[in-house]
Amino acid sequence: MNAGKHVRHWINGKPYDGPAERQGDIHDPATGRTTGKVDFASAEEVNAAVAAARAAFPGWRDASLARRTAVLFRFRELLAAHRDELAALISSEHGKVVSDAAGEVARGLEVVEFACGIPHLLKGGFSENVSGRVDAYSILQPLGVVAGITPFNFPAMVPMWMFPVAIACGNTFVLKPSEKDPSASVRLAELWADAGLPDGVFNVVHGDKAAVDGLLEHPDVKAVSFVGSTPIARYVYETAARHGKRVQALGGAKNHMVVLPDADLDLAADAAVSAGFGSAGERCMAISVVVAVDPVGDRLLDRIRERVADLRVGPGDDPRSQMGPLVTREHRDKVASYIDGAREQGATVAVDGREVEVEGAEHAGGFWLGPTVLDHVTPQMDAYRDEIFGPVLSVVRVGSYDEAMALIAANPYGNGTAIFTNDGGAARRFQNEVEVGMVGINVPIPVPMAYYSFGGWKDSLFGDSHAHGMEGVHFYTRTKAVTARWLDPSHGGVNLGFPTNC
Ligand code: NAD
Repeated sequence: MNAGKHVRHWINGKPYDGPAERQGDIHDPATGRTTGKVDFASAEEVNAAVAAARAAFPGWRDASLARRTAVLFRFRELLAAHRDELAALISSEHGKVVSDAAGEVARGLEVVEFACGIPHLLKGGFSENVSGRVDAYSILQPLGVVAGITPFNFPAMVPMWMFPVAIACGNTFVLKPSEKDPSASVRLAELWADAGLPDGVFNVVHGDKAAVDGLLEHPDVKAVSFVGSTPIARYVYETAARHGKRVQALGGAKNHMVVLPDADLDLAADAAVSAGFGSAGERCMAISVVVAVDPVGDRLLDRIRERVADLRVGPGDDPRSQMGPLVTREHRDKVASYIDGAREQGATVAVDGREVEVEGAEHAGGFWLGPTVLDHVTPQMDAYRDEIFGPVLSVVRVGSYDEAMALIAANPYGNGTAIFTNDGGAARRFQNEVEVGMVGINVPIPVPMAYYSFGGWKDSLFGDSHAHGMEGVHFYTRTKAVTARWLDPSHGGVNLGFPTNC
């Protein structure tokens, strides 16, 4: 039982024991009860964390690649060993079912495994004899103190898109996780310490806008990685850039799944329900819009309804549950408000999640909303225009492939999308034309593996680097090009001419 827990910042290898001017509540979304408090950082704690990271940088930057990878491999082993414990912790604060939380830890672990290969990834180039007896080479060096600001929906995975790569590259890191589910980040910090990471290389400050602004404005923070909603991503991008920092800011999403008439409709319905309602739709890669190309609409909707009827909603720690509650009461109520809104604006409520019943008197105060399906949604409706970020799947019916493409092109977001078809030519045309960063072909949640990079286009990403993979290595390093001449006995004396390559 987590009742009464107190989540503190993690600074310089240990919990920060100073008093907190402000705190936030942590809830169990399945019961609605308050289970603890989290300290909110002011400028003082942010400064302490950045100072610890700055002091740790020279030593970590100069640690050999062998030493850095030894720590990474140990961290990888500890993560694997504590996966179930982390999953239970995530579920208790976020609400997602434990198996889903374990999946999130596994996807984060893949990035750690990618980062274990850092000696190979940091190799620069070398050109011999670019001029007479002159060699040129490039080296990749870390930036210094870098910061990560992360959302509630993946409290372990999203931070692990960032810090394994940043730390492997030789940077030191300050994480500001979501204040709604802060415990996983502190557990990860403890595992780093157990893995032998020197104090100050990884720090965690909790809090809200004050903590974020402290990082964005701090002169010693060289780069900022952000993942969260689009308005805050835009703000972080602009503010961090104004303060001279390198920044990547991943924002919100509205992911369309196009179902062509030749698609396998059972496969498509399985995919729409899995991708629409997994983690209660609180995934940036969730499918929120099914685009049914005529004439599949009715047949597809029937199949979706059948599957939704079988979904079991319940607490995340019950292995029978397939979908948990939403993260907070406010968020639950906001998501639910879209149902009446859509009906008033002309949509059909095919499945109403407000009718959901969850076993157990202790769950009466939980933040429940069952899977909801809205049919005949149009681009003018709020349910289509807004990122709802909950278990509400909209079905938009269109007359043709071109109409489906026009819909996606007009949408301001460009995070993920998918096409379901048996026509290879149509799929190839889709992957070529669609203005979206991550594309699935008969795959509804095309999250790239750790060795590719994760990121959307348009209003789903501000900046030019995606997360992890080679773009992550690029983001957390800067390149130095060296031109070297070692004189030999044939050295020819002074030459005031402009250096040329002969
Ligand atoms: P959010 O934008 O509310 O919060 C994200 C982070 O910003 C948190 O750490 C929060 O404390 C901080 N923050 C909140 N308000 C702030 C403010 N006014 N000024 C400065 N910082 C502030 O997002 P959330 O509700 O935690 O997460 C859900 C959102 O994240 C969704 O929009 C989802 O699509 C998005 N998301 C995107 C991706 C992606 O890869 N593109 C991945 C996961 C989640």
